Amino acid sequence: MNVTVFGTGYVGLVQAAVLAEAGHRVTCIDIDENKIERLKQGHIPIFEPGLEPLVKRNNESGNLSFSTNAAEGVAHGDLIFIAVGTPPDEDGSADLQYVLTVARTIAKHMSGKKYIINKSTVPVGTADKVREEVIHTLQERDALNLEFDVISNPEFLKEGSAVADCMKPDRIIIGTSEQASERKMRQLYAPFNRNHDKVIVMDVRSAELAKYAANCMLATKISFMNEMAVIADRVGADIESVRQGIGSDPRIGYHFIYPGIGYGGSCFPKDVQALKTTATKLGIEPKILNAVEERNHTQKHYLLEKVVERYGKDLSDKTFALWGLSFKPNTDDMREAPARVLMENLWAMGANVRVFDPEAMHECERIYGNRDDMQLCGTRDSALSGADALLIATEWQQFKSLDSNTVKNSLREPVVFDGRNLYAPTDMAAAGFEYYCVGRPQAN
Ligand code: NAD
Repeated sequence: MNVTVFGTGYVGLVQAAVLAEAGHRVTCIDIDENKIERLKQGHIPIFEPGLEPLVKRNNESGNLSFSTNAAEGVAHGDLIFIAVGTPPDEDGSADLQYVLTVARTIAKHMSGKKYIINKSTVPVGTADKVREEVIHTLQERDALNLEFDVISNPEFLKEGSAVADCMKPDRIIIGTSEQASERKMRQLYAPFNRNHDKVIVMDVRSAELAKYAANCMLATKISFMNEMAVIADRVGADIESVRQGIGSDPRIGYHFIYPGIGYGGSCFPKDVQALKTTATKLGIEPKILNAVEERNHTQKHYLLEKVVERYGKDLSDKTFALWGLSFKPNTDDMREAPARVLMENLWAMGANVRVFDPEAMHECERIYGNRDDMQLCGTRDSALSGADALLIATEWQQFKSLDSNTVKNSLREPVVFDGRNLYAPTDMAAAGFEYYCVGRPQAN
């Protein structure tokens, strides 16, 4: 099938590459000329496991192409995805300007029937707005005879495993009431729907809300567990035992109940905020979502509180090694990352920070530039050199086994603040570390 994808971010690029791999002919359109030029030359702008070879292979085979020419893009695809950003507006609601611009662009250039598929995360009612925008533009062109449908097809990929998630989706939600649209979408996704039917068809509004409900439920699980960890800290319980104790109940399950220093990224924070705004505008007080967000803000300062308890508020003579900058492992994305809150607060208190992340160093440099109080270190070990303590903000696999001797020899004192509970307190005590983590008592 001929497919066009507007937006080559995490969602658009991965979806396009995966559809091309399945044999569809896919064209990606973006307004960022630099990005498109680099993609044409095989440079992938984001780190996502497995993405680079997939893009290269399909680009070379001719199944995947890149362009800034929207007219060409609209002419190419019968199915046109909108996968552009929906950042928070000033009042917290999702800013739909990019989505609606693409809707107008499609309507301006279309000359035959188009299936307009919304992949961006958008509030309930957006499909209707897209529809109105298209009709308005067609009216201006005196082309109201042209047929189209607007379908909601929310994306559930996770950064860090986006390719695998798109290749083997848990579910494919299709929001439409048109039979022709359902047929087209089933045909498009048939290569990913072989073993059992993962397609769930529903009305557009339910599809739009399902995406927010999913992200808000996951954010709720994280904030709940973080609150339990804070309580565990105060009452002297071990959150790891609590986690196992509750996870073993199949009604609760083990997924997504790891405590830490808060969720980040481009999705959970903005989606919780957007659903809160939707609810508030409807006169509903979003009590649970308010609490989820509040706990997350507080939790991002939790490791810092432990640092301050240990060293006091003046950190001007302190240097900290910080492992992990991305908001989660296997991505270079630092949007809303807890590491940023931690680092910025350490700087505000006068500290110097030596940072290392396996993938996000260039992103860190792009965000913060050159600062006297931040050293970008090439390896996890070099970040430790001469630091007063080690702080951990992201649970990268390569941090999970600690070379105790190297760490102790490099740090001024053997002190570790671990925001992701990577090590057992008893092991750390036995290795001679003063070890602070989230919701677990010190063993020494
Ligand atoms: P992103 O910011 O990484 O990429 C968006 C891209 O759209 C950019 O390259 C931008 O230049 C391009 N763009 C903007 N206006 C355009 C236009 N008029 N024409 C063509 N291209 C245009 O965004 P993302 O992370 O891929 O997210 C896209 C959407 O998918 C958002 O609504 C997001 O909430 C949702 N989503 C994201 C994830 C995720 O993990 N990142 C997961 C599920 C859903």
